[in-house]
Amino acid sequence: MTLREMVAECNRIVFFGGAGVSTESGIPDFRSEDGLYRQKYDVSPETMLSSGYFYSHTEEFYRFYRDKMLPLGAQPNAAHKKLAEWEREGKLLAVVTQNIDGLHQKAGSRRVYELHGSVHRNTCLKCGKKFSAEYIARGKGVPRCDCGGLIKPDVVLYGELLDDDTVRGAVGAIRRADMLIVAGTSLTVYPAAGFVEDFRGKYLVLINRDETPLDGRCDLVLHEKVGEVLGNL
Ligand code: NAD
Repeated sequence: MTLREMVAECNRIVFFGGAGVSTESGIPDFRSEDGLYRQKYDVSPETMLSSGYFYSHTEEFYRFYRDKMLPLGAQPNAAHKKLAEWEREGKLLAVVTQNIDGLHQKAGSRRVYELHGSVHRNTCLKCGKKFSAEYIARGKGVPRCDCGGLIKPDVVLYGELLDDDTVRGAVGAIRRADMLIVAGTSLTVYPAAGFVEDFRGKYLVLINRDETPLDGRCDLVLHEKVGEVLGNL
Protein backbone atom coordinates (compact mmCIF):
# COMPACT_ATOMS: atom_id res chain seq x y z
CA MET A 1 0.00 0.00 0.00
CA THR A 2 1.34 3.47 -0.83
CA LEU A 3 1.49 6.45 1.49
CA ARG A 4 -1.02 8.24 -0.73
CA GLU A 5 -3.54 5.38 -0.29
CA MET A 6 -3.04 5.24 3.47
CA VAL A 7 -3.53 9.00 3.80
CA ALA A 8 -6.67 8.86 1.66
CA GLU A 9 -8.15 6.22 3.98
CA CYS A 10 -7.38 7.97 7.29
CA ASN A 11 -8.85 11.04 8.95
CA ARG A 12 -7.26 10.95 12.39
CA ILE A 13 -3.62 11.31 11.32
CA VAL A 14 -1.03 12.32 13.90
CA PHE A 15 2.43 13.46 12.85
CA PHE A 16 5.33 12.91 15.23
CA GLY A 17 8.41 14.82 14.12
CA GLY A 18 11.90 15.90 15.04
CA ALA A 19 14.74 18.08 13.87
CA GLY A 20 14.82 16.42 10.42
CA VAL A 21 11.48 18.05 9.60
CA SER A 22 13.17 21.46 9.60
CA THR A 23 16.45 20.65 7.82
CA GLU A 24 14.78 21.44 4.48
CA SER A 25 14.06 24.88 5.96
CA GLY A 26 17.81 25.32 6.51
CA ILE A 27 17.93 24.51 10.24
CA PRO A 28 20.56 21.86 11.01
CA ASP A 29 19.49 18.83 13.05
CA PHE A 30 21.65 17.32 15.79
CA ARG A 31 22.73 13.87 14.65
CA SER A 32 23.00 13.91 10.84
CA GLU A 33 26.40 14.15 9.14
CA ASP A 34 26.08 17.92 8.86
CA GLY A 35 24.24 18.17 12.20
CA LEU A 36 25.31 20.24 15.18
CA TYR A 37 26.84 17.26 16.99
CA ARG A 38 29.43 16.80 14.24
CA GLN A 39 30.61 20.41 14.51
CA LYS A 40 33.51 21.05 16.82
CA TYR A 41 32.92 22.79 20.12
CA ASP A 42 35.02 22.85 23.28
CA VAL A 43 31.93 21.77 25.18
CA SER A 44 29.41 19.33 23.64
CA PRO A 45 26.06 20.75 22.49
CA GLU A 46 24.35 18.32 24.89
CA THR A 47 26.22 19.95 27.79
CA MET A 48 25.62 23.47 26.50
CA LEU A 49 21.90 22.77 26.21
CA SER A 50 21.62 21.37 29.72
CA SER A 51 19.88 23.02 32.61
CA GLY A 52 23.06 22.90 34.73
CA TYR A 53 25.05 24.74 32.05
CA PHE A 54 22.33 27.36 31.62
CA TYR A 55 22.61 28.39 35.26
CA SER A 56 26.38 27.96 35.69
CA HIS A 57 27.55 29.36 32.30
CA THR A 58 24.67 31.62 31.30
CA GLU A 59 26.73 33.87 29.05
CA GLU A 60 28.26 30.94 27.11
CA PHE A 61 24.84 29.31 26.90
CA TYR A 62 23.37 32.41 25.25
CA ARG A 63 26.29 32.76 22.85
CA PHE A 64 25.65 29.22 21.53
CA TYR A 65 21.88 29.59 21.70
CA ARG A 66 21.80 32.84 19.71
CA ASP A 67 24.24 31.45 17.20
CA LYS A 68 22.64 28.02 16.61
CA MET A 69 19.14 27.79 18.04
CA LEU A 70 17.48 31.03 16.89
CA PRO A 71 17.06 30.77 13.10
CA LEU A 72 14.30 33.35 13.03
CA GLY A 73 14.41 33.88 9.27
CA ALA A 74 13.65 30.21 8.50
CA GLN A 75 10.45 29.49 6.57
CA PRO A 76 8.17 26.44 6.67
CA ASN A 77 8.89 23.82 4.00
CA ALA A 78 6.56 21.51 2.08
CA ALA A 79 6.21 19.13 5.06
CA HIS A 80 5.04 21.86 7.46
CA LYS A 81 2.66 23.19 4.80
CA LYS A 82 1.11 19.82 3.95
CA LEU A 83 0.42 19.07 7.63
CA ALA A 84 -1.30 22.45 8.07
CA GLU A 85 -3.38 21.69 4.98
CA TRP A 86 -4.42 18.27 6.35
CA GLU A 87 -5.48 19.85 9.63
CA ARG A 88 -7.64 22.42 7.78
CA GLU A 89 -9.21 19.57 5.76
CA GLY A 90 -10.03 17.67 8.98
CA LYS A 91 -7.65 14.79 8.23
CA LEU A 92 -5.04 15.51 10.87
CA LEU A 93 -5.63 15.47 14.63
CA ALA A 94 -2.35 16.98 15.77
CA VAL A 95 1.32 17.55 15.21
CA VAL A 96 3.56 16.32 18.01
CA THR A 97 7.01 17.82 17.63
CA GLN A 98 10.36 17.73 19.38
CA ASN A 99 11.28 20.92 17.52
CA ILE A 100 11.45 24.29 19.17
CA ASP A 101 11.49 26.44 16.03
CA GLY A 102 7.76 27.26 15.73
CA LEU A 103 7.68 26.44 11.99
CA HIS A 104 4.52 24.32 12.20
CA GLN A 105 2.57 27.28 13.59
CA LYS A 106 4.18 29.56 11.00
CA ALA A 107 2.80 27.21 8.32
CA GLY A 108 -0.69 27.47 9.84
CA SER A 109 -0.92 24.38 12.07
CA ARG A 110 -3.00 25.01 15.17
CA ARG A 111 -2.90 21.86 17.28
CA VAL A 112 0.82 21.47 17.87
CA TYR A 113 2.23 19.75 20.94
CA GLU A 114 5.72 21.12 21.41
CA LEU A 115 7.31 18.49 23.63
CA HIS A 116 10.53 20.46 24.04
CA GLY A 117 9.01 23.92 24.22
CA SER A 118 9.61 26.83 21.89
CA VAL A 119 12.19 29.54 21.28
CA HIS A 120 9.23 31.87 20.77
CA ARG A 121 8.34 31.89 24.46
CA ASN A 122 10.79 33.35 26.97
CA THR A 123 10.08 34.13 30.61
CA CYS A 124 11.67 36.26 33.31
CA LEU A 125 12.49 33.85 36.11
CA LYS A 126 11.81 36.56 38.72
CA CYS A 127 8.56 38.29 37.70
CA GLY A 128 7.22 36.01 34.94
CA LYS A 129 7.15 38.67 32.21
CA LYS A 130 7.13 37.20 28.68
CA PHE A 131 9.55 38.07 25.90
CA SER A 132 9.67 37.26 22.19
CA ALA A 133 12.41 35.32 20.41
CA GLU A 134 13.22 38.51 18.50
CA TYR A 135 13.90 40.28 21.80
CA ILE A 136 16.37 37.55 22.77
CA ALA A 137 18.00 37.54 19.32
CA ARG A 138 18.43 41.34 19.26
CA GLY A 139 20.09 41.60 22.68
CA LYS A 140 23.69 41.00 23.64
CA GLY A 141 25.05 38.96 26.55
CA VAL A 142 22.67 37.60 29.17
CA PRO A 143 19.10 38.84 28.58
CA ARG A 144 17.56 40.48 31.64
CA CYS A 145 14.10 41.77 32.43
CA ASP A 146 13.39 45.37 33.57
CA CYS A 147 13.07 43.91 37.07
CA GLY A 148 16.63 42.58 36.87
CA GLY A 149 15.54 38.93 36.61
CA LEU A 150 17.22 36.42 34.29
CA ILE A 151 15.21 35.56 31.16
CA LYS A 152 15.05 31.87 30.21
CA PRO A 153 13.74 30.39 26.96
CA ASP A 154 10.74 28.08 27.52
CA VAL A 155 12.76 25.29 25.97
CA VAL A 156 13.16 21.95 27.74
CA LEU A 157 16.89 21.70 28.42
CA TYR A 158 18.62 18.39 29.09
CA GLY A 159 17.92 17.53 32.72
CA GLU A 160 14.52 19.27 32.76
CA LEU A 161 11.08 17.67 32.81
CA LEU A 162 8.57 17.86 29.99
CA ASP A 163 5.41 19.87 30.57
CA ASP A 164 2.62 17.60 31.90
CA ASP A 165 -0.25 19.10 29.89
CA THR A 166 1.76 18.93 26.66
CA VAL A 167 2.63 15.28 27.25
CA ARG A 168 -1.00 14.44 28.10
CA GLY A 169 -2.21 16.15 24.93
CA ALA A 170 0.42 14.51 22.74
CA VAL A 171 -0.12 11.00 24.09
CA GLY A 172 -3.90 11.43 23.95
CA ALA A 173 -3.70 12.38 20.28
CA ILE A 174 -1.37 9.48 19.46
CA ARG A 175 -3.78 7.05 21.17
CA ARG A 176 -6.73 8.33 19.13
CA ALA A 177 -4.85 8.33 15.82
CA ASP A 178 -5.73 5.97 12.98
CA MET A 179 -2.36 6.70 11.36
CA LEU A 180 0.91 7.83 12.89
CA ILE A 181 3.59 9.36 10.69
CA VAL A 182 6.95 9.49 12.43
CA ALA A 183 9.45 11.64 10.57
CA GLY A 184 12.79 13.42 10.80
CA THR A 185 13.78 12.01 14.16
CA SER A 186 16.51 9.64 15.27
CA LEU A 187 14.15 8.51 18.08
CA THR A 188 16.95 8.70 20.62
CA VAL A 189 15.78 11.54 22.88
CA TYR A 190 13.66 10.19 25.74
CA PRO A 191 11.01 10.35 27.03
CA ALA A 192 9.74 11.93 23.77
CA ALA A 193 10.78 9.01 21.55
CA GLY A 194 8.82 6.56 23.75
CA PHE A 195 5.47 8.25 23.06
CA VAL A 196 5.17 6.53 19.66
CA GLU A 197 4.67 3.28 21.63
CA ASP A 198 1.18 4.49 22.55
CA PHE A 199 -0.03 4.24 18.96
CA ARG A 200 -2.79 1.64 18.50
CA GLY A 201 -4.12 2.68 15.08
CA LYS A 202 -3.95 1.18 11.61
CA TYR A 203 -0.87 2.50 9.84
CA LEU A 204 2.52 3.31 11.33
CA VAL A 205 4.67 5.13 8.78
CA LEU A 206 8.26 6.27 9.10
CA ILE A 207 9.84 8.90 6.86
CA ASN A 208 13.46 9.41 7.84
CA ARG A 209 16.69 9.82 5.90
CA ASP A 210 18.60 7.43 8.17
CA GLU A 211 17.51 4.19 9.81
CA THR A 212 15.81 4.33 13.21
CA PRO A 213 15.02 1.76 15.93
CA LEU A 214 11.38 1.82 14.71
CA ASP A 215 12.03 0.77 11.10
CA GLY A 216 11.33 -2.95 11.63
CA ARG A 217 7.89 -2.32 13.14
CA CYS A 218 6.40 0.05 10.56
CA ASP A 219 3.81 -0.62 7.88
CA LEU A 220 5.79 1.63 5.55
CA VAL A 221 9.35 2.97 5.78
CA LEU A 222 10.64 5.67 3.45
CA HIS A 223 14.30 6.62 3.80
CA GLU A 224 13.70 9.90 2.01
CA LYS A 225 13.35 13.59 2.70
CA VAL A 226 10.12 14.31 4.50
CA GLY A 227 9.52 17.64 2.72
CA GLU A 228 9.88 15.98 -0.66
CA VAL A 229 7.68 13.01 0.28
CA LEU A 230 4.83 15.06 1.75
CA GLY A 231 5.20 17.81 -0.82
CA ASN A 232 4.72 15.28 -3.63
CA LEU A 233 1.51 13.81 -2.24
P1 NAD B 1 18.15 14.20 15.50
O1 NAD B 1 19.09 15.26 15.03
O2 NAD B 1 18.59 13.28 16.55
O3 NAD B 1 17.74 13.30 14.26
C1 NAD B 1 17.27 13.86 13.07
C2 NAD B 1 16.89 12.73 12.14
O4 NAD B 1 16.25 13.32 11.02
C3 NAD B 1 18.07 11.93 11.62
O5 NAD B 1 17.79 10.55 11.80
C4 NAD B 1 18.13 12.28 10.12
O6 NAD B 1 18.44 11.16 9.32
C5 NAD B 1 16.74 12.71 9.83
N1 NAD B 1 16.61 13.75 8.80
C6 NAD B 1 17.35 14.88 8.63
N2 NAD B 1 16.87 15.61 7.61
C7 NAD B 1 15.80 14.92 7.13
C8 NAD B 1 14.86 15.15 6.08
N3 NAD B 1 14.92 16.24 5.32
N4 NAD B 1 13.89 14.23 5.87
C9 NAD B 1 13.80 13.10 6.62
N5 NAD B 1 14.67 12.83 7.61
C10 NAD B 1 15.64 13.73 7.88
O7 NAD B 1 16.79 14.94 15.87
P2 NAD B 1 15.69 14.58 16.96
O8 NAD B 1 15.40 13.13 16.95
O9 NAD B 1 14.60 15.54 16.73
O10 NAD B 1 16.36 14.89 18.36
C11 NAD B 1 17.11 16.06 18.53
C12 NAD B 1 16.62 17.02 19.60
O11 NAD B 1 17.13 18.28 19.22
C13 NAD B 1 15.16 17.20 19.67
O12 NAD B 1 14.85 17.08 21.00
C14 NAD B 1 14.87 18.63 19.24
O13 NAD B 1 14.20 19.31 20.27
C15 NAD B 1 16.19 19.31 19.17
N6 NAD B 1 16.43 20.10 17.93
C16 NAD B 1 15.46 20.88 17.41
C17 NAD B 1 15.69 21.58 16.24
C18 NAD B 1 14.57 22.44 15.70
O14 NAD B 1 13.74 22.93 16.45
N7 NAD B 1 14.50 22.61 14.38
C19 NAD B 1 16.91 21.51 15.58
C20 NAD B 1 17.92 20.70 16.16
C21 NAD B 1 17.65 19.99 17.32
